[in-house]
Amino acid sequence: MKPDLLIISPLMRPFMEDLASRYTLLKYYREADKPGYLAQVAPRVRALVTTGGTGLSADQIAALPHLELAVTMSVGYDAIDLPSLAARGAALTNTPDVLTDDVADTAIALMLCAWRDMMRGDEHVRSGAWAKGPLALNHRVSGAKIGIVGLGRIGLAIADRLAPMRAQISYFGRSEKPVPYAFQPDLHALAAQNDILIIAAAGGPETAKMIDAEVLSALGPKGCLINIARGSVIDEAAMLAALETGGLGMAGLDVFDNEPNIDPRFAALKNVVLHPHHASGTVETRDAMAQMVVENIDAFFAGHPLISPVDLTT
Ligand code: NAP
Repeated sequence: MKPDLLIISPLMRPFMEDLASRYTLLKYYREADKPGYLAQVAPRVRALVTTGGTGLSADQIAALPHLELAVTMSVGYDAIDLPSLAARGAALTNTPDVLTDDVADTAIALMLCAWRDMMRGDEHVRSGAWAKGPLALNHRVSGAKIGIVGLGRIGLAIADRLAPMRAQISYFGRSEKPVPYAFQPDLHALAAQNDILIIAAAGGPETAKMIDAEVLSALGPKGCLINIARGSVIDEAAMLAALETGGLGMAGLDVFDNEPNIDPRFAALKNVVLHPHHASGTVETRDAMAQMVVENIDAFFAGHPLISPVDLTT
């Protein structure tokens, strides 16, 4: 008999078909009465699949007393109730590394679009305004001072892309790393010292609204804020106010509060480049992430060590 697998959020079709060949898929995402369905299947559920956006709530975990493994198709797990999962004694796996390059590329793309005013350039050509005069001058990336908040896998990949662009790179985090970039242990000072601030720190309660009104003010009217991490890391109300009043120069954002129904004030801002949480959205990377999900599930049911377990003790 095939083992049961609870699907909170589905993978792409070929991966679902692959899983269905070895597991009985319990398709929670298709059910109208989700709590009722969980109560019905709970005695059979040892493992489940979710995604970074969908996550896993304390209520869902409470409804699954036999849960041993949660597998998320994301590197971030801020939408998963970690204390409940740890209290249940269940393991968690994520999909690190395979998406690092895409997310770092997206950070660089957003930064270039915002800093070099490329959206306005696009509009300048399309609208015919070019025939009436050139686009206003903007500023170099080479030589620009760029601070990175969170020099983890993605933060480091961003820094390593900026180095050959001849930017001056510094970073903030909980600890100094053995890297050729300058450590700044004070977040406010990092914002004040840099032209561009790139957010690459994990989401979650510890980093919630870490980029607050004071940090934004330190970055200032000429400053550029890039976020490919999580919307929660920035005080979004403060950022919107700063962008609207000129307290912050510009932003390039892949992530927001309340995705996908983001604050409509963003759409009216000309000094922001918007991207729909799609930094890892390439065929190659999504395939690699889904494959990692499948391999973790197979390892669990085969009694083998998990491929990419998250340490829930720290
Ligand atoms: P990682 O290697 O675990 O790096 C996480 C970074 O967050 C580390 O540098 C860590 O700093 C920092 N951090 C954690 N808690 C902090 C705190 N309290 N104060 C300051 N810094 C803190 O993870 P990753 O693979 O680079 O991914 C980073 C994040 O990017 C993920 O958590 C996810 O939310 C986001 N992400 C977004 C997308 C997207 O589509 N936009 C895709 C993938 C990932 P320390 O060095 O001090 O530990």
